[in-house]
Amino acid sequence: MFDAHFHPGGISAAEKIFADKSFNKEHCGLRGFCCSSSENDWEAALQAASEYCGIIPCLGIHPWHAADFNRDAEARLRHKLILTGAFIGEAGLDFLKPHRELQEKAFESQLRLAAELKRPIMLHCVKAWGRLAEMLKIFHPPCFIVHSFGASLQIMKELSSIGGYFSFGPGLAEPRRKKSRAAFAQLLGNAYKESIPNGLFLFESEGGKISETVKAAAEIAVSNGKYCGLEEAVREISAMAEANASAFLAKAGLMPEGGALRK
Ligand SMILES: [Zn+2]
Repeated sequence: MFDAHFHPGGISAAEKIFADKSFNKEHCGLRGFCCSSSENDWEAALQAASEYCGIIPCLGIHPWHAADFNRDAEARLRHKLILTGAFIGEAGLDFLKPHRELQEKAFESQLRLAAELKRPIMLHCVKAWGRLAEMLKIFHPPCFIVHSFGASLQIMKELSSIGGYFSFGPGLAEPRRKKSRAAFAQLLGNAYKESIPNGLFLFESEGGKISETVKAAAEIAVSNGKYCGLEEAVREISAMAEANASAFLAKAGLMPEGGALRK
């Protein structure tokens, strides 16, 4: 299963699953976007990608660390991106946290790099959806994924019209996360009649396990009458998420090859 969002620390848990078996890192099935939060974990994300052929590193500055970002850090990020071919992230806006101006500055720099170097960017957004959409429209990154998506259908429609993909995590299981659940149901194509293209959802493990995400998503699909049983739903939506991830990678200029993702 392609994991659209995790951090270097999340890998050790996955490794333990394989610890007792003769474990081949080339074929372990560990695939996805390994995101960094600050300059401190860029190397860890790159290291993960060097050990597992299915992992794509993403280097960036999370909005929570925007205060650490300056011209020097931007130059170092640019240099690393050129050197490694990494994607960008995790970047974005979180208006529940301080330093809005610094957050916008750091986000703008990373959007400019995404556009200039033609790299996909992995986004984090909390209570800043209008501003996020505005900035994406100004700077036009080639493609982007909003991780742990939880905004209105209107915002989803707006972001999908400018090339956005949407990733969902284990939080889908929580009934209070109504927007996230409604957004996933919409993308699955059965809950509303809004005009949003098919094929835009991915799954992630951040905050739990990817199997928990898939199970929660399957339960939503079954409760909406899309499938009769949980097993069938898990199988079908896993295949859909895989196909969506492949489509995103193709858009980003990467093609799945022999079961592994190669640049
Ligand atoms: Zn994250």
